[in-house]
Amino acid sequence: MGDLKIANLTKRFGDESGTAIVAVDDLSISIEDGEFLVLVGPSGCGKSTTLRCIAGLESVTEGTISLNGTDITHQRSRNRNIAMVFQNYALYPHMTSRKNIGFGLKMGTDLSAAEINEHIEKTAEMMGIENLLEKKPGELSGGQQQRVALGRAIVRDPELFLMDEPLSNLDAKLRTTMRTELQNLQADLDVTTIYVTHDQTEAMTMGDRIAVLNDGELQQIGTPLECYHLPANRFVAGFIGSPSMNFFEVSQNRDMGTLVHDEFGYSLNAATSESIADAADVLTLGIRPEDIRVAARGDENIFTVEVDVVEPLGDQSYVYFTVGGQTYTASIDGEEYIREDIEIDVVFPQNRIHLFDGQTGKAIKNRDPPEAAQAEAAEFQDSSSFAAGQNDD
Ligand code: ATP
Repeated sequence: MGDLKIANLTKRFGDESGTAIVAVDDLSISIEDGEFLVLVGPSGCGKSTTLRCIAGLESVTEGTISLNGTDITHQRSRNRNIAMVFQNYALYPHMTSRKNIGFGLKMGTDLSAAEINEHIEKTAEMMGIENLLEKKPGELSGGQQQRVALGRAIVRDPELFLMDEPLSNLDAKLRTTMRTELQNLQADLDVTTIYVTHDQTEAMTMGDRIAVLNDGELQQIGTPLECYHLPANRFVAGFIGSPSMNFFEVSQNRDMGTLVHDEFGYSLNAATSESIADAADVLTLGIRPEDIRVAARGDENIFTVEVDVVEPLGDQSYVYFTVGGQTYTASIDGEEYIREDIEIDVVFPQNRIHLFDGQTGKAIKNRDPPEAAQAEAAEFQDSSSFAAGQNDD
């Protein structure tokens, strides 16, 4: 069992001048037993502090944390049945892998030496590191050290795993392999896991759900496809997805039923006009690079843009173009032949555009959700935007 509830968690740090730094601001998240939740956000948004509060390594300023219905907010770290894995592995350099893995059991349980050894060997087999048990961290590669660190976490059979950027010290190829391994391991062990990263690709590929933080505040919690296709606000829209969503500052011309940008006008159909009828005049239009198409006969809202740079990736090409002095990206089918310095006609299909409040950034209208996003979100009925009403406050 590992059902975690974080309610109104706030963590303030005082600095020398007496001003408080609010690292985590009124954060509430419920994590289901066995769930893999990824906490993602830019550097300094409060991810590690949240994790450290859950682990009991940091005191909580306000709010509560409960595990399986027990309030653990002020419980000593060592009394929480929680295991943490760090970016820098945090292994004892003078101990062999066997001793590193067994250390927690030796200090925290009354298991006999033979029983501890049995646990160590079972874990080592699961992690594929049986042949590394007698080696010290200095003799191991980064990936091997991280496997030992994971083994040390697993062997304790915790109710909750907390992982703080565990793969960021590994090279790109190993990271991808370890990403899959970790997911499989978590699914096999079925232990509730909170995984911190600033890498949105890791967030999209690893988590059952993603919690996006910015400036200590929760921006959105949802399945990866939900956050991708139905972002709650402009911040999430820009943070999740690579290359990022394109944004254009526009204003509504309600009489004409158009959105007006300095360089172009965009005609709205009746449904879109209605969906933004109560919205402010100043909006931000968002469109993902892969939703921009090369225009075909009969398309509406065609814009002619000059291509600055083309990056061919094979299956698709990233096409960079400038509008009003700003660079935008389109991801175009690799079979289309597009060269630099030519003009092309592109469209932003109306069922793919997002509109955000120009001031608050709150999503007013998201693209039509694809079936995959709806199916994925249905697994988390209680928290999904579909269940709650899209982007309701
Ligand atoms: P990163 O991805 O860079 O590790 P993060 O999202 O994990 O960032 P935190 O380490 O949680 O962010 O930090 C959140 C904020 O709290 C930052 O402004 C940071 O400077 C501040 N902070 C963290 N620890 C302390 C501390 N011990 N004393 C004072 N301020 C701190």
